[in-house]
Amino acid sequence: MTDALLNIKGVTRSFAAGDQQLTVLNDINLQIMRGEMIAIIGASGSGKSTLMNILGCLDKPSQGSYFINGKDTSAMDEDDLAALRREYFGFIFQRYHLLSDLSAVGNVEVPALYANEAQNTRQDKAKKLLSRLGLSDRLDHKPAQLSGGQQQRVSVARALVNGGDVILADEPTGALDSSSGAEMMKLLRELHADGHTIIIVTHDPEIAAFADRIIEIKDGEIIGDTSNASSQEPNYPKLATQQGLHQKADVNKGMNWSRYFAALKMSLIAMSNHRLRTFLTMLGIIIGIASVVSVVALGAGSQQQILDNISSMGTNTIEIKPGTGRGDRRSARVRSLTADDATALSNLPFVDSATPTVRANVAIRYSSETVSGSIQGVGTEYFRVRGYSLAQGQFFGEDSIESLEQVAVIDSNTEQELFADGDALGSVIFLGRLPVRVIGVTQALDSVSSSSDELNIWLPYTTVSGRIFRQNYVDDITVRISDNVDSDVAEQGIIDLIAMRHETVDFFTINTDTIRQNITKTSETMTLLISAIAFISLLVGGIGVMNIMLVSVTERTREIGIRMAVGARQTDIMRQFLIEAVLVCFCGGALGIGLAYLVGEVFQYSNSEFEMIYSSTSIIAAFACSTVIGIVFGFLPARNAARLNPVDALSRD
Ligand code: ADP
Ligand code: MG
Repeated sequence: MTDALLNIKGVTRSFAAGDQQLTVLNDINLQIMRGEMIAIIGASGSGKSTLMNILGCLDKPSQGSYFINGKDTSAMDEDDLAALRREYFGFIFQRYHLLSDLSAVGNVEVPALYANEAQNTRQDKAKKLLSRLGLSDRLDHKPAQLSGGQQQRVSVARALVNGGDVILADEPTGALDSSSGAEMMKLLRELHADGHTIIIVTHDPEIAAFADRIIEIKDGEIIGDTSNASSQEPNYPKLATQQGLHQKADVNKGMNWSRYFAALKMSLIAMSNHRLRTFLTMLGIIIGIASVVSVVALGAGSQQQILDNISSMGTNTIEIKPGTGRGDRRSARVRSLTADDATALSNLPFVDSATPTVRANVAIRYSSETVSGSIQGVGTEYFRVRGYSLAQGQFFGEDSIESLEQVAVIDSNTEQELFADGDALGSVIFLGRLPVRVIGVTQALDSVSSSSDELNIWLPYTTVSGRIFRQNYVDDITVRISDNVDSDVAEQGIIDLIAMRHETVDFFTINTDTIRQNITKTSETMTLLISAIAFISLLVGGIGVMNIMLVSVTERTREIGIRMAVGARQTDIMRQFLIEAVLVCFCGGALGIGLAYLVGEVFQYSNSEFEMIYSSTSIIAAFACSTVIGIVFGFLPARNAARLNPVDALSRD
């Protein structure tokens, strides 16, 4: 008995039933030789299937040992057992256990797939086997489109595709009508004649009569082991699949793209078979990704607009005003800031230009129109610093400043207000009692710094202080600092100079660069804040994916069991579910980005103020993020699926 192919020694199998142990198999000893055809017969509940599952390495004994070809199975790990199921055993179940999503060929291919066979080879093999079993015209039929007998033949083909040295058939005729059942038994005899070792489990003595050796089991114990001389080899043409039990190399090692590809294909099939569920799962990811991408684009767009506004206000300018700060009521009485300060400032090396401003509120009159508005005495650099450009005419120059010329530049609001039906250029308007000639009209400025209904009239600052106020102090000085100069350093230099000239600090400075920095920082904070909220929705989406995947694992337990029975490794199962989760998230990510662009289009249509700016980084990050979510939230369900016990999974409905 030493060369027994399958050798069961003192095997006991018990299950926990509440507080008690239910012993289903009790000290079983059984040797099965190569090429035997055996029937295990017994009443329902006697433990036949349990014994069969142990023989097929789907289940493990509670006690005792099981040797296959002299090797102890208790020393093998899960992958070794999966390899045995894949390479040596072929299972035929009472209820066929085919994968309902796959065609006949697809079902037969599965064990070959896990054995790393190339797609062409395994398809050829599957087709040949199915044709030999009389199913050549049913290759692409799904199990639901096949009769019971046909389905059982598909499962025989599946058992044979990797060789199937030992065929384990658990009530193979149990669900078949008598003629299909008889055909199935003839088929099994043919396989036996070809050299396959056949083990059939049945409660039916007529079926058992086909075997050469009949083992009777009752209440978990073997009560009879007889050889059956009357069994006959049938006169059928032999199947040419005969293979001896030899050591097959485990082709487990190494990368195999075919298996990844097949897993991807399976995932796509599973997804398309549950389209609504897949879409609802994706929805969380779609919304999450779309909101993250749009919020970032919105933030970038609004920030860009604010920065544009600031730069139209004048890049890097520092304003000097009298007083101790904004809102200082005594600042009106501080009269120390003069045009000479501006001249002194403009001589500093890091100063591009310095221009004083004098403001006055006067009545502005043209023919019969009188409006009240503010006039500003400014230097020649003022317009460049503030980013004004001309619609008509010209700005005043240095000579106008020197000779206190009575000329004015007006903005488009003032032009519309005073010259509704005439040409402004060259006209003379009265500022209080001072007549000035309009020499230029500026273009309307789109800027946060100018409210759109303001009336602006600009004169040379010397004209305002000399001819209107008859004084020499100014309201503020705007300093434009040279490019490439650190604005904080320049600000300090300016403060030092003016403080030295005034011998006291009776002024304060406003640095637009600081304003820009503050606005940028604020909008960055806002973007971060909203992104965080969007990220939370992404997280919730991920948890949704995990939830659905967990449900899907439960729902597909039987599928997982079948795959494991035909030899899928734990890594194969894990990979399939992970790929599915990642695929769902990846597609969700792609749709989310599409949605974000759609939002951008709608936004632009309804609001022309600014555009959403999509950066490629945020899109790549969105894809990366959704993939990572797939991996992270798919991991737990995938691991749960991979850790299922094959028998438990198979017996689940
Ligand atoms: P048979 O195939 O001979 O009809 P089984 O081997 O399927 O019988 O089952 C034998 C006994 O073991 C039955 O009473 C069944 O309830 C019990 N049994 C089988 N599997 C389990 C299990 N996983 N947990 C608990 N009890 C089980
Ligand atoms: Mg059974």
